[in-house]
Amino acid sequence: MSIEAGSNLRQLPAVDEVLRNDQVVALLETNPRVLVVESIRETLDEIRARVIRQSDPGALDRQDLLDEAVQRTEARVRQKARPVLRRVLNASGVVLHTNLGRSVLSESAREAVEQVASNYCNLELNLDTGKRGTRYSLVEDLLVRLTGAESALVVNNNAGAVLLALGTLAKGRSVIVSRGQLVEIGGSFRIPDVMEQSGAKLVEVGTTNKTYLRDYRQALTDDTALLLQVHTSNYRIVGFTHETSVRELAGLGSETGLPVMSDLGSGFLIDLSPFGLPYEPTVQEIVADGADVVTFSGDKLLGGPQAGIIVGRKEIVDRMKKNPLTRALRVDKLTLAALQATLREYLEPEQALQSIPTLRMLTLDSAVIEEKATLLAGFIRAEAGDELQVSLEGGASQVGGGAMPTADPRTVLVALQPRGLGVDELATRLRDTDPALVGRVHDLKVLLDPRTLRDDEYHLVARVLKQACTEVRD
Ligand SMILES: *Cc1c(COP(=O)(O)O)cnc(C)c1O
Repeated sequence: MSIEAGSNLRQLPAVDEVLRNDQVVALLETNPRVLVVESIRETLDEIRARVIRQSDPGALDRQDLLDEAVQRTEARVRQKARPVLRRVLNASGVVLHTNLGRSVLSESAREAVEQVASNYCNLELNLDTGKRGTRYSLVEDLLVRLTGAESALVVNNNAGAVLLALGTLAKGRSVIVSRGQLVEIGGSFRIPDVMEQSGAKLVEVGTTNKTYLRDYRQALTDDTALLLQVHTSNYRIVGFTHETSVRELAGLGSETGLPVMSDLGSGFLIDLSPFGLPYEPTVQEIVADGADVVTFSGDKLLGGPQAGIIVGRKEIVDRMKKNPLTRALRVDKLTLAALQATLREYLEPEQALQSIPTLRMLTLDSAVIEEKATLLAGFIRAEAGDELQVSLEGGASQVGGGAMPTADPRTVLVALQPRGLGVDELATRLRDTDPALVGRVHDLKVLLDPRTLRDDEYHLVARVLKQACTEVRD
């Protein structure tokens, strides 16, 4: 250490000195003291290390060092105070973006959560009789009504629903599945692994691209407990292909007395093909085709909270309700409130298409998308036109959430070319703004898809863009 560095170190403020600074005193009003003190210590350590490292620091001014310590402490405290889940402006055009929390809840679902979160509720009390009730009954009634199934059960997520169904129906016995359906969903959900965890034995039949009813029939033994169909949510096998339908499997099921299960993954209640999306059977259709158990997610195309929904024959669902695993997988009151409100929307399908954000975004009319893009571009030009070149270009959005992987709903993108910095640098900075902004980077442009942004978010998008472009970094 040089002599100069040594004398500079003596100019470094003490923790108490920083703590007495007005700006830091203000921080103490909204932040726990331990975090502020810790931040000061870390900041001073950092500055001290730098002073020691510098070979020729020159004489440092005491006031400058104090100012620097205060500024950096403030930034550090702000960093520590950030909530674990921060708001993100989703301009990726991926409607069910798993990394961004999948579905945004409808207004009625948000209100229901707010009610239940702030007050006591009748979670397990029947208010008519004053006796203990079940937490699920109203939601189950709605599911039965909407899907035409005999009975329903709700658990924590669809992975849990599949695990519970397999463990209840096939523990220690065999389950027949097509080789074309041994899917892996993001986050390490793999059908063979879930099967193993449930204690059921996987019997693969057919080939990757073609599986016929006769393949299932040939694999039947006394050990067979279940015929399983898994929706190939996030991939498609195209070309020379054949899969056996639920209806065919149900035929084999009634012939042999074996139950048929369909894990739909996304699962939805309204056919979206009139809006240009691929045709896929709804939950109601799969139930009508004869599936004995159907499982699907609450927060994929349904557009509700994270949940695993099981509908099917009463005798089978009753067995699942008695499985101790059901208690371990149970949903909390907030989820239940949000799910009931979401399902209620489906009683008026036309309205559901508007009031459930996931459905509204997926079914936006192309003229509306174009208007949205023009409006968004206007906001950005007005706020950050000096920093960004703004143009419109055609493109495609994505359904996401491992649903409809081949669908490419047409959209109009707002393309941004920063004048003063690189696109990757801009994208990085946009993840650090508050709220963060997530778009796509392509061809030296940042692309924003208005499909997944609300109109009332445009001014925020423009503001964080301006901030990211003009912010000075050290
Ligand atoms: C998404 C998916 C799951 C898992 O659902 P989560 O709600 O994410 O637990 C299971 N099976 C299929 C076919 C899926 O697409």
